[in-house]
Amino acid sequence: MSQVVDIHSHWWAEDWLPEAYWEAMADIIVREMEKGGRDPDPDRVREEYIPTYWDPTGETLLERMDEAGVDHQVVFGLDWGIPLGDPPLSVREYNRTVADFTNDHDELTGFVTVDPRREFAVDLVRTALDDWGMEGLKLHPTSGFHLHDPETYRLLQLCTERDAPVLTDSGPIAAPLYSKYSHPTHVDEVVTDFPELDLVVAHLSLGWWRELLAVADVNVNTRLRVDVSGWQGRAEEYPEEFATAVRRFVDALGADRVHWGTDDPAFDAAYPKEEWLGATRALADRGDEHALTEAELGQVLGGGATKLLDV
Ligand SMILES: [Zn+2]
Repeated sequence: MSQVVDIHSHWWAEDWLPEAYWEAMADIIVREMEKGGRDPDPDRVREEYIPTYWDPTGETLLERMDEAGVDHQVVFGLDWGIPLGDPPLSVREYNRTVADFTNDHDELTGFVTVDPRREFAVDLVRTALDDWGMEGLKLHPTSGFHLHDPETYRLLQLCTERDAPVLTDSGPIAAPLYSKYSHPTHVDEVVTDFPELDLVVAHLSLGWWRELLAVADVNVNTRLRVDVSGWQGRAEEYPEEFATAVRRFVDALGADRVHWGTDDPAFDAAYPKEEWLGATRALADRGDEHALTEAELGQVLGGGATKLLDV
């Protein structure tokens, strides 16, 4: 059986992300539960449920990989300090922590992450790639910058020179972050200006997947890639949409440029990795025009990522 690679996962603990983010996350969980007809206690969600996401030693991350049968995983942090306020752990220390952890484990690859508007962004990315053994860059435009801003282009230029992949978040996101910056339209400019860059656009851009597909369909002469992370809930609720979207991206880009991922720990509690892997594997058993072949499935689950990451 082919290798399973999770190309998109985070690692975090309480002091590593802004307090405003944990508050917002608790609020979103409460409202989702209320929408589902339940009556949660907001204090309990914040005091008892949110801490289950924290994993300061990385033990949970490794355990869950092992239990679910994930062979290799790309790990990164988050830098939302500019819109949400800086957390106690600095961006530099957070990335250094991720680098040390991923260097200690052969089954992990670390990507550096930083808001390009940070004064030290270029220095940090250079240090992470050249001295800390990190292998790529993760960007999250929803904190309020565009992929084609001059500040971001400095980082994309550096990654192109180092032949390091860049993974960018894409698709609508809840407040207090800003969806519009991650619209697929902004991807178009980047793949045109950096045809040699391996740019992985995350989440198939969620509800904007057809817009991303429109960009992907024509850019056969670029190295645009996508990941399916974050579709756990959508795939369960709308399995036809998931199968259609994956089939269309495989047709547009080739199966080796459509990557499996989770975005965990965000989803693992509600949609365990094993189930998400099962839902993805089931794409090869459909017996209809949206089905993947076994060979394509192998590329999506890990074949393509293994080549990209050289693992
Ligand atoms: Zn993510």
